Amino acid sequence: MAGKCKWCSGDMEVFLPYARLSLCRSHFRNYVVRRVKRTIERYGMINSGERVLVALSGGKDSLVLLHILSTLRDSDDPKFSLKCEVEAVTLDLGIKGYSERCIAVARAHCEKLGVPHHTIKAAELAGFTMDDVASRRGRPTCSVCGVVKRYVLNKVGVEMGFDRLATGHNLDDEAAVLLSNYLSANVELLSRQSPVLPAREGMISRIKPLFEVSERETAMYAQFQGLAPVDGKCPYAIAPSTLKFKMVLNMLEEEVPTMKISMVRGFLEKVKPLLKKGETGPLRRCVACGYPSSSEVCSFCRLKKIYGPM
Ligand code: SF4
Ligand code: ZN
Ligand code: ZN
Repeated sequence: MAGKCKWCSGDMEVFLPYARLSLCRSHFRNYVVRRVKRTIERYGMINSGERVLVALSGGKDSLVLLHILSTLRDSDDPKFSLKCEVEAVTLDLGIKGYSERCIAVARAHCEKLGVPHHTIKAAELAGFTMDDVASRRGRPTCSVCGVVKRYVLNKVGVEMGFDRLATGHNLDDEAAVLLSNYLSANVELLSRQSPVLPAREGMISRIKPLFEVSERETAMYAQFQGLAPVDGKCPYAIAPSTLKFKMVLNMLEEEVPTMKISMVRGFLEKVKPLLKKGETGPLRRCVACGYPSSSEVCSFCRLKKIYGPM
C-alpha cells in the first residue's frame, strides 16, 4: 500500500474511507482505542472505578474488546486512560473439541494482558451441554446456546458484583440487526436496541463498547496486535440470519462510506427517543429461579426442563 500516515512519516497501512484517513499501524491502533474511549464516554458506558466483566468467547471481537479495555485501564495518558477494573469470563458450553480451545485462547490472552479470568461451566448450571442439545432433534443448537449464554453471563455478572457486562458486538452487527428490525417493523426489538442497557434488579448493565468500530477495523486491529482468535468454527455454527443484511450494507457502504455509522447514530439520536416507552416495561420474576423474566417461567428454566436430566 503506497502513501504515508497522516500523522507521522510512517508508511500507510490502513485507509479508512469514511474518515479519509491514511494511517500507519501504530496510529491506527491509537485511533481505534480513542474512538472506543469516546464511545464509552458519550454513552455513559463505564464510570470511573467501575468493575467491568468482559464476555470473552475467544473470538476476534471479544479479544479486541479485552485488549482495548485493558489498554485504557493501564494507560496513564489522559487521552487513553479510563479508570476501571477489567475481568473476563469464558463459558464452557460443553462443545467437545471446541469449548476447550476457546477457553485456552481466552486464558492465554488474559494472562498476557494481566486480566483476571473466570471459566464457568454453563453445562453444570443448565444440566445439559450443547452437544446434548445437538444430539436431539428440536430447536436449533444456536438458539438454545444464545439463551444459555445470556442467562449465565447475567447471573455470573450479578452474583460476582460487577457493574457492567461488556460484549464484543461491532458496528456491522449493530447496523445489520437495526436494518433487520426496521424491515420487519419490529418496534419492540427496535425500542430495546441500544449500546448500553441499564442495570435493573437481577440484571447487570450490558454495554457494547465496540459498536462504533467496524468489522474490518476489528479484524485489522486483531491482526496488528497479534491477537490469535480460536482457530476454526464451532461445529454447530450456521450462517447467522443477519448475514444477508451485512452483505447489503457492505454494498451500500461502497457508495456511501459513512452509511453504517450514520444509520446507527441516527437511529439512537432521532428514532429511538420516540420509541422509549416500550424499553422499561415491568419485569416479572421467574417462579423457578427468581431471575427477571418476561413470562412466569424464564426461557432458561424452560430449556432446563426440556434438555436437563429427567
Ligand atoms: Fe453456541 Fe451456535 Fe455460537 Fe456454537 S455457533 S457457540 S452453538 S451460538
Ligand atoms: Zn503514523
Ligand atoms: Zn428461571
